[in-house]
Amino acid sequence: MSDSSDELSPEPELQIRNPATEEVVATVPAATVADVDAAVVRAATAQARWAALAPADRARLLRRFADTVDAHTEELAQLEVREAGHLLGNARWEAGNARDLLLYAAGGAERLLGRQIPVPGGWDVTFQEPLGVVGVIAPWNFPMPIAAWGSFPALAAGNAVVLKPAETTPLTALRLAELALTAGLPEHLFQVLPGHGHIAGRALVDHPGVAKIVFTGSTRTGREVMERCARLVKPVTLELGGKSPNIVFADADIEAAVDPFSFLDNSGQDCCARTRILVQEPVYDQVHELLADALAAVVVGDPADPKTGMGPLISARQRDRVRSFVPADAPALRGTAPEGPGYWFPPTVLTGERPDSAAAREEIFGPVAVLLPFTDEADAIRLANDTPYGLAGSLWTRDLGRALRVSRAVRAGNLSVNSHSSVRYWTPFGGFKQSGLGRELGPDALTAFTETKNVFISTEGPAQ
Ligand code: NAD
Repeated sequence: MSDSSDELSPEPELQIRNPATEEVVATVPAATVADVDAAVVRAATAQARWAALAPADRARLLRRFADTVDAHTEELAQLEVREAGHLLGNARWEAGNARDLLLYAAGGAERLLGRQIPVPGGWDVTFQEPLGVVGVIAPWNFPMPIAAWGSFPALAAGNAVVLKPAETTPLTALRLAELALTAGLPEHLFQVLPGHGHIAGRALVDHPGVAKIVFTGSTRTGREVMERCARLVKPVTLELGGKSPNIVFADADIEAAVDPFSFLDNSGQDCCARTRILVQEPVYDQVHELLADALAAVVVGDPADPKTGMGPLISARQRDRVRSFVPADAPALRGTAPEGPGYWFPPTVLTGERPDSAAAREEIFGPVAVLLPFTDEADAIRLANDTPYGLAGSLWTRDLGRALRVSRAVRAGNLSVNSHSSVRYWTPFGGFKQSGLGRELGPDALTAFTETKNVFISTEGPAQ
């Protein structure tokens, strides 16, 4: 989220603050346009050598990288707690997710198969060629997994990567790049350049030596990235905002369905957060009551304490934005939050919103959901789809036919039935509508970092 004052006088250094204490934990130089240019040139040289390696050798090095990440899980997790305010348990899972994706992608390097297509007069074969240098631009909400999702399948497919992490959270990405070198990956193959979005991010997007951009962030910035990529006809994957529904039918397991962590995980700074709780009218009062109790029980505080359920927001700016959606007199269920240093906001469910209000339509990106009633299946589908976003969603019912009908009717990329879990590194991930373009993860993750080349080989001999 760059603002105009940043654009006029960008700081040459990034100050990284612990969001739970507001203390500066590190200062990192911000990359200039010249730094980006030099990194791309170095990456191109490294990529040519990397692509020439046998797939099994690339796979072996990536597995070693995974082992190195594994050996540093605790250090990476502690770093994520300090720079992003993540709960320690979540941060350990995030480091493990980066390791697991490396192992999964390593196997992909050996299975990046072409096809043989029957044609008259010869043989026709396809190759999945690496793109070259891939630019990855990551947000601050899940710094490690999102850096990994964009970068590791690209490396496995034979590309080099230049990654620009978010201004507020470059530390785990920088450490991952060091660990890649420790593991024996070639120098300059995986470079991390912390910097400002409108300087280093734009330079990466505009660079003619960058073959593809993978952008994860807000829909507003994603639109600009896509426009700039269009000038160079540069392919782009966009993972953008969300306003995902949690659809609770009256026949569902109501207690499981109203799990408050479906929108409070990572303090609600989760693109898949189920922030629109759509409830069938007969169970509305029951859900209201359950949510009131559940919010009151959430422990908000020190992310390193295992008893904590929710940590701080990333920054004062983000807290101000979240607050702007929650007037003090708004009808709401509210939990508590600490006073004093740190960017705290209580878990909140707004109960008096209309479906067309700003809080019900815009991505708040904090621990705030809206509770809305619906009448029947058609009304639920209409409400669920009444948004420019289409990233994720949950639906709860014991009726199998309804579960299948509603799953097919909701226009979103990642749905879960009788569960709030829809993100796994081995299944595809991405959004419909203004939530994005393209898919990450899953069995086709590497293909997204290749061009398909078709070669026809004549068996008729040279023309006489
Ligand atoms: P943001 O768009 O402000 O910034 C994202 C990244 O883009 C940062 O690294 C930033 O420095 C960079 N950037 C900013 N301006 C740029 C420009 N003009 N050119 C190139 N790069 C630029 O987003 P944010 O506030 O960091 O992240 C929160 C957003 O990310 C939310 O909207 C959230 O939903 C979205 N998100 C989406 C997914 C997904 O997979 N769909 C995952 C996580 C977060």
